[in-house]
Amino acid sequence: MTTVGILGGGQLARMMALSGAPLGLRFLVMDTVADACAGQFAPLIVGDWRDEGALAEFASKVDVATFDFENVPAESAQWLSQRVPVFPSPGALAVAQDRLAEKTLFRELGIPVPDFADITSRADLDNAIARLGTPCILKTRRLGYDGKGQFRIKTAADAAAAWDALGAQATTVGLILEGFVAFERELSVVAVRGRDGEFRTWPLTENWHVDGVLSASLAPAKADAALAAVAFAHARTLAEALDYVGVFALELFCRDGVLLANELAPRVHNSGHWTIEGSETSQFQNHLRAVLGLPLGDTRMVGTACMLNWIGVMPEANAVLSEAGGHWHDYGKEPRAGRKVGHATLRADASHELAATLHRVGAALGRAAQVAPAVEALRNR
Ligand code: AMP
Repeated sequence: MTTVGILGGGQLARMMALSGAPLGLRFLVMDTVADACAGQFAPLIVGDWRDEGALAEFASKVDVATFDFENVPAESAQWLSQRVPVFPSPGALAVAQDRLAEKTLFRELGIPVPDFADITSRADLDNAIARLGTPCILKTRRLGYDGKGQFRIKTAADAAAAWDALGAQATTVGLILEGFVAFERELSVVAVRGRDGEFRTWPLTENWHVDGVLSASLAPAKADAALAAVAFAHARTLAEALDYVGVFALELFCRDGVLLANELAPRVHNSGHWTIEGSETSQFQNHLRAVLGLPLGDTRMVGTACMLNWIGVMPEANAVLSEAGGHWHDYGKEPRAGRKVGHATLRADASHELAATLHRVGAALGRAAQVAPAVEALRNR
């Protein structure tokens, strides 16, 4: 009996455990909070990531360890990797945890990125704003996610406010200034690389964010073969450079037909949740197969799929459950503003069918605005 240890016990760990059940796997989850929602399906160790006692207990009970949360301190991952195999490697995790290291690597590998600058002082910020121009975005290098730890600078006069908001973090987590990309679309590549180097991607996904948080994902994204090939090549280059094992997402901005890399998420990703019902093998199961050295599953799509995120509170389920291709995911979390509490995936064989389903679901749930961009994208095919 193989036990997979997961650092972080949120919805990603929960869906990983659910997808691993048919493989006969057992799971052990470690999280800093006792009500971590993966704990409803797997034994949970509650402890701080830096608590070596808790980590040692975790290590003694698992055959392999992985993450549902990329901000586990790199030193904790390193410590663990001396006791049990850890995938992705602590080195890959460390790069993905730091927006500056990540963008520097992208650039070294020939993957285009938005302009960026390392910011260590107020003077750096003023100089970088002059160089990059406005608008631009000041971000924390570490520990930011879902638009948190970001300040949008519209004109140079906003520099003082940006520094007031984030300047204190220049010496703790570090800061990076990025040019604002007036993108037409946000796309992501969800990909998997096995222990033996086998590499696969799911079809390109188009994503829409609200307030920096993912709202909807549509797959496959409308993209010509050449654009998709570039996106997949970037993902492969990155995975090979990092000797990456497991699933990851590469978030891309598309502007004038050019792809700019925003971020590498070193784990299963929200923009890949549609793969549970929309693909031959889900991102969750392929992640497990990769970290266990099992053959990777087929990443082919089954028709077309759209994922809608539920933020804050769960809506009424019946509007989705009553649809032929409607799939409901309630993460079993307490409602809280801004919190990802669940998602739905709507799947159909043809684009026009999916557009009609989304329209119905949006109307029934009073969420016409959330489904509108995906409906429009589907109608433009
Ligand atoms: P991030 O946490 O970096 O993934 O940012 C969250 C969201 O903010 C992204 O998905 C974009 O919608 C937006 N965003 C982040 N960086 C930029 C940028 N340099 N230019 C334009 N939009 C951005």
